Amino acid sequence: MGPQFPCLRRKNRLPDHRAKPLEATAAIPSLNTREWQLRSTKPLCYRSRMLIRYDAIIIGTGAGGGTLAFHLARAGKRILIFERGPFMPQEKLNWDTSAVFLDNRYHTKEIWQDKDGKELHPQQSYFVGGQTKVFGAAMFRMRAEDFGVIRHQGGISPAWPISYSEMEPFYTRAEDLFHVHGDLGSAPAVPGGYGSSFDPTEPFHSRKYPFPALANEPRMQSIEDSVRKLGIHTFPIPLGLKRDEAAPLESKCVRCDTCDGYPCLVHAKSDADINCIRQILHLPNVTLMTNSRVTRLLTNPNGTEVARVEVIHSGPGVGSEDFAPPASGGRTVSYSADLFCLCAGAVNSAVILLASANDKHPNGLANSSDQVGRNFMYHQADALLAISRERNEDSYTKTWGTNDFYLRDTDPNYPYPLGQVQPVGSFHSEMMKGDAPPLTPGFVLETMKHHAVPWWLTTEDLPDPDNRVTLHNTTPLAVQNAQPGLGGPHPSGDTGHTNESEQVSDNAPYRIQLSYTPNNVESFERLKDRWIDILKRAGHATTSVPLHAYFKKRIPIEGVGHQNGTCRMGRDRTSSVLDPNCKAHDLDNLYLVDASCFVSASAVNPSLTIIANAIRIADHLVSERLK
Ligand SMILES: Cc1cc2nc3c(=O)[nH]c(=O)nc-3n(C[C@H](O)[C@H](O)[C@H](O)COP(=O)(O)OP(=O)(O)OC[C@H]3O[C@@H](n4cnc5c(N)ncnc54)[C@H](O)[C@@H]3O)c2cc1C
Ligand code: SF4
Repeated sequence: MGPQFPCLRRKNRLPDHRAKPLEATAAIPSLNTREWQLRSTKPLCYRSRMLIRYDAIIIGTGAGGGTLAFHLARAGKRILIFERGPFMPQEKLNWDTSAVFLDNRYHTKEIWQDKDGKELHPQQSYFVGGQTKVFGAAMFRMRAEDFGVIRHQGGISPAWPISYSEMEPFYTRAEDLFHVHGDLGSAPAVPGGYGSSFDPTEPFHSRKYPFPALANEPRMQSIEDSVRKLGIHTFPIPLGLKRDEAAPLESKCVRCDTCDGYPCLVHAKSDADINCIRQILHLPNVTLMTNSRVTRLLTNPNGTEVARVEVIHSGPGVGSEDFAPPASGGRTVSYSADLFCLCAGAVNSAVILLASANDKHPNGLANSSDQVGRNFMYHQADALLAISRERNEDSYTKTWGTNDFYLRDTDPNYPYPLGQVQPVGSFHSEMMKGDAPPLTPGFVLETMKHHAVPWWLTTEDLPDPDNRVTLHNTTPLAVQNAQPGLGGPHPSGDTGHTNESEQVSDNAPYRIQLSYTPNNVESFERLKDRWIDILKRAGHATTSVPLHAYFKKRIPIEGVGHQNGTCRMGRDRTSSVLDPNCKAHDLDNLYLVDASCFVSASAVNPSLTIIANAIRIADHLVSERLK
């Protein structure tokens, strides 16, 4: 064996890093001689990297960070990207239900705790591309109403400091970037562009979807036909994947039954790794360091700016060029740039800010408002299994949904929004194992699977300052820091230790606590009742059971896939963390570009909004901050 962290040749590791950009590459300004020398002398040592002055450091490569990196890179900015995980291994287990859902192969081993101090195993995937590596690729625009104040039964959903009209051009660009398939029907003209003849809640689009919607398979078609006869408006779900229904043999996407919650073995899902990061890695102005976890941001002596970022390189790094991380694993290294963009996801971005407390920012960075970590949301969501006498042999079921209960209930005495209905994209009998009575034979579960259609129901949860992320020093750790069922080392190399150089113990520093009490629950219960009633009336549900195993142990809080809030945007610096351009009110050069900036959660899936917002912030940085 060679050195502990041998320098890695790109060609040996990830040949498809050389993927062509989606469009013509923007002109790259020339670097100075010293920098070119550094780049042309391979392998590059991390120390050399420390000498380069970067325009921006980007922390995290998920929906927000990947999109931001793509745009800053294409604008010619010198960027250094840190990602705590590696590239997702492309392996047969990507589509193995037991490995993905029961063995948690692609989930971190990290242990958080819930509000009562009990261990919590978050369903988080730390890989290049972040949660988009396993997402269901349903790519919705928030409704125009979601950007304003909405009164719910459980309280108020507050207004964002930006409107739908301001976001619309960025939604359009986000749909292009992530190859979204959708359909507005006859697209009636409305102010600003097109509406949808399918979905009355669809906000205006200045352009139609770039790719046509995916067609139903027979079972989903039959249910849609029956539901429509009851007067329900259904619409094709906007999906980010690479499928040409007119030329299926030439399509990358094979419409498999292992999509939602799984990595895509054939790289046909539009995720932030494939659509963003791999499109820029060939550029000389881009450096990506994987297996590189940011632990703290350090400020200048006055505390007015971030000066450096502390990073632990915990494994071999792979990037656009070879580099050698420190020979001793777990050593902290720091790097500098003009701007710092924190895109580690709603929970981890708050964690990094709280961990970065110093004498000028005693409660954590950017936290003079005491709002960092607060207002955590992740949707009221449940998977519901509708079982009927009809067989369901469809492969890919996530093709249509309804928003008829999105803005109001059908009961005039309950003038509140309920939420959205869509199918779960993938369903297998193994997913039921956790919830079935002990000793239920496998063939019973398999029979159920062939008569079931799984539905995903979402109600907005509301910002509550007591639903929050905090850090604790002294937390009893009752179980081993490993998850059962996962043979061998975790593919991410993630040990679960907050600080890689220390064993987790009762006195482990920075244990993450996620305190959450559900709210707006009555509307969620009503939504489930409404949908079960409709399926029964349409003749497509003899019975229905909640399927909690979709995200294994999703309920309660482990299923943090839709996490948002924690560092909300706002104009008032006493009640928000970020200004409307996602810059921290308290620091001149710190931006948060991920789901943490959300002011309210809406009841649609979050990623398209995160991506559109990242494009908006990228434009702002290029035109205002990095001229
Ligand atoms: C199973 C599942 C299904 C989903 N389905 C859908 C769907 O159909 N539609 C939809 O819109 N959304 C869906 N989502 C949600 C969607 O994936 C997320 O909303 C989105 O990816 C969040 O983007 P983000 O940029 O905020 O964070 P992330 O995508 O989580 O990215 C954060 C990145 O930061 C990295 N990171 C974290 N901490 C550090 C650190 N300290 N140092 C360096 N790097 C760090 C992480 O490894 C990660 O790469 C789903 C999520 C899951 C889990
Ligand atoms: S349905 Fe298509 S995009 Fe999804 S995992 Fe299968 S091949 Fe990949």
